[in-house]
Amino acid sequence: MTTIQNQDDLYGAPTPGALSDEVFENYRRYVNPPLARVMKLSGSPIEVRAEGSTIWDQNGKTYLDFAGGYGVFTLGHRHPRVLAAVREQLDRIALSGKTMFNVLLGRASKRLAELAPGDLEISFWCNSGTEAVEGAIKLARVATGRKKIVATHDAYHGKTFGALSASGREAFQTPFRPLLADVAHIPFGATDTLDAVLADAAAFIVEPVQGEGGVNVPPAGYLRAVREACDRTGALFIADEVQTGFGRCGYRFGCDRDGVVPDLMTLAKGLSGGVVPVGAYIARSPIWMRAYGKAPLIHTSTFGGSELACAAALAAMEVLESERLVENARERGEQLLAGCAEIAAEFPQVVARVRGLGLLVGVELRSEGYGGWIIPEMLKHGVTAAWTLNQQRVIRLEPPLVVSSEEIERALGALRAGVAAALGNLGSLE
Ligand code: PMP
Repeated sequence: MTTIQNQDDLYGAPTPGALSDEVFENYRRYVNPPLARVMKLSGSPIEVRAEGSTIWDQNGKTYLDFAGGYGVFTLGHRHPRVLAAVREQLDRIALSGKTMFNVLLGRASKRLAELAPGDLEISFWCNSGTEAVEGAIKLARVATGRKKIVATHDAYHGKTFGALSASGREAFQTPFRPLLADVAHIPFGATDTLDAVLADAAAFIVEPVQGEGGVNVPPAGYLRAVREACDRTGALFIADEVQTGFGRCGYRFGCDRDGVVPDLMTLAKGLSGGVVPVGAYIARSPIWMRAYGKAPLIHTSTFGGSELACAAALAAMEVLESERLVENARERGEQLLAGCAEIAAEFPQVVARVRGLGLLVGVELRSEGYGGWIIPEMLKHGVTAAWTLNQQRVIRLEPPLVVSSEEIERALGALRAGVAAALGNLGSLE
């Protein structure tokens, strides 16, 4: 294990214990008091450094990052080419002054259009996934002149008002009602009701694989049926690729699995290689023009499309292609899923089933509570994992796409230990 006990890694605190006390006290008073207590109770370490698939804590212990920032770290932490691009850009111009042309915004938008499916062409840059979704929903309303947005049960699109309205979890929505009017939810993966519900809709928003909904993989051909229903009804097809984009599922984009081109695609997480926060939507040109052809400034973002973010995104898109990460995601994803299936077969009392596509893998447990035993045990074994936000019975594994075969085996070892510990706890309850 590499140890990092120097002062820099302790952020100036004299000992790891002093750093823990300071962090907890700051969280308890100034960040989020109830969350601080939950994190402390579950023994959450402090992240002090990260590189590739590895995070170091305050004691110098290393963890394989299989929570992967909920899908942000497609290139791993701090990929050297992204860091170099960002450092170089810091010495030129960091944030856009907004009144002049921005070279990198143009280049990053062009590169995104080249990589995105079909004729997706014009992009809008913002700073998070939920902002990308807001932008797409607004564009769809203006472009079609219709109001209704159709989404799916268990969907996750973000937590700002528009995106939250399209999301499919009551617990996140109820305290904030009323939400956006005119939003309908239909079952994910079902095609029989599409035509009827989309007849008067501005858009259908859907994830190619539902990440936060519990890693739900639709039947092959689902997105093709969605495309056809949208063509018949005039509703726009918004593919929310915030989590599935940039190789996560073993395809460059989740839509590539079905070979379809949506009208709008929302992106974030992997787009800038996990170094600078960024989000974007990309739209087909005629649709964008219908909405904003005569009103270029009615949807804008001060920070969006900064030189810094675009430099990171350009480097990240280059690394994704040159390091063949999409292929690696597919191969390592098969290894990970097969290993999880073995564990499920070995411990049927704990694991109900496993599923996934590429390096987005979900382990469905027989009961919500089991995750509370498994995730801390995996941490003890030096591997991070996380729940999915809309489905507490599913643990997600989404490591960086640069993950090696050996790292997958280590993570599987930790998962097996976690599941065995859960079974042991069950036994002691009986
Ligand atoms: N859409 C999808 C599909 C997501 O998975 C997420 C985040 N998990 C979001 C939108 C929201 O992204 P953010 O947290 O950056 O706002």
